[in-house]
Amino acid sequence: VRVIDLRGRVVAEALEYGDFVGSDPVAVFGRLAALSTRVLGGLPPGVRLVGAGLALPGIVAAEGDLLLRAPNLGWSDVEPAALLGAATPAGLPLHIDNEANLAARTAAEAAPGRPGAFGDFVYLSGEIGIGGAAVLGGQVMTGRHGWAGEIGHVCVDPAGPLCRCGSTGCLETYAGRDAMLAAAGLTPASTLAELAELAGGGDARAREALSATARALAVALAGVINVLDIPTVVLGGHLAQLADLLRPEVEQQLRTRVLSARWVPPRIEAATSPPAPGATGAAFRELSGILADPAAWL
Ligand SMILES: [Zn+2]
Repeated sequence: VRVIDLRGRVVAEALEYGDFVGSDPVAVFGRLAALSTRVLGGLPPGVRLVGAGLALPGIVAAEGDLLLRAPNLGWSDVEPAALLGAATPAGLPLHIDNEANLAARTAAEAAPGRPGAFGDFVYLSGEIGIGGAAVLGGQVMTGRHGWAGEIGHVCVDPAGPLCRCGSTGCLETYAGRDAMLAAAGLTPASTLAELAELAGGGDARAREALSATARALAVALAGVINVLDIPTVVLGGHLAQLADLLRPEVEQQLRTRVLSARWVPPRIEAATSPPAPGATGAAFRELSGILADPAAWL
């Protein structure tokens, strides 16, 4: 839970980390409600809340009130506002959106309405799965229903492993956090710092795990870049942590796979946003309403 002001500064926050694969939404939203009540109860006097947003790793109904499906959580048709109940600030509708779409805003905007480091880029959000977003002119390309950017479910190899979405060989079955750790012979309790350290020390299995991730990323991203002509890729989440290790092989393969690479070689960048960028992006989205029509709030 994070409260952000118009200048993009954190007013209050409380983060809880956990593995929510196959979790019960009622229990998870119960924890979120308690966290939210604690953060909102401790806000400095005079703070006026103007909106509430929620970032979720799945596809959301266009009306922004129903999570249709989050394959890694194992959730379908979840209505967060109903589960949060009184923990949602009084009088404010709760807008829910795809986590990667919101996280991408933190690479496009340094603060609400202020341009950030990147304007045109493909964003990959590395968590248990892989979320994605394409951003052009600082705006997330949402597609007809808001479901664009699911790069994690772009097929890298039809004969590959079964994905939680029901398909096979999706990017996230190679580049998701747990998939990378398993490929390196590590458990889900291990950290990516351990994986990076093993690879740096010359461990063959760790190096191959990183190489397999880089090859899968290059195949999926080459497809995206060939279709969209957006040659800058910003890696977020765990992929940002590993960007320096992944970059050489991904960039080298993209130079072969992207038709226009001779003129503008695709670049891999690491996002610099703090943890839980989806929460910050959700706040930016709410605050953008004020910037669009300040008079309504005076
Ligand atoms: Zn999939």
